[in-house]
Amino acid sequence: MGAYFSEIFCGFWSLCIGMGITFREFFSPTVTVQYPYETLTMTARYRGHIELIADDEGRPNCVVCGMCEKACPSDCITLAGEKPEGGKKKELTKYILDFTKCSLCGSCVESCNFNAIEFSKEYNLASTRKEDFHFDLLQRLKDRNP
Ligand code: SF4
Ligand code: SF4
Repeated sequence: MGAYFSEIFCGFWSLCIGMGITFREFFSPTVTVQYPYETLTMTARYRGHIELIADDEGRPNCVVCGMCEKACPSDCITLAGEKPEGGKKKELTKYILDFTKCSLCGSCVESCNFNAIEFSKEYNLASTRKEDFHFDLLQRLKDRNP
């Protein structure tokens, strides 16, 4: 008979402990988000795929030196540029990133002396087609600076 009541008491006590934890967590700050309806703010050191940086007029800072292309150990970057008629400097005409091969090592960003590329905060990438991870970074820059 004593064991019977002891079991009931133990069960009730563990229920109280569980409800106490639930009640406490009910008032603690939320650490999860309703993905994909809510988005996250990534930390300063987060590395998404690289992105071109624009100057004040929305043009790429890139001077088409090719250092990032050479520095990439995985051949992810394909870029091209040409001198416009009467112009003195080359202008970027193509900057393609094959993100399927990128290891986010950072060699490209470190090799750039013109503050022309940076890591994006992009984390929301999913696809079953690898072509979707071939990014036209020049077009993306134009889309951001219409
Ligand atoms: S290293 Fe910088 S400036 Fe040179 S091609 Fe790459 S992004 Fe452009
Ligand atoms: S982060 Fe590394 S692997 Fe990715 S594009 Fe830059 S150099 Fe290549």
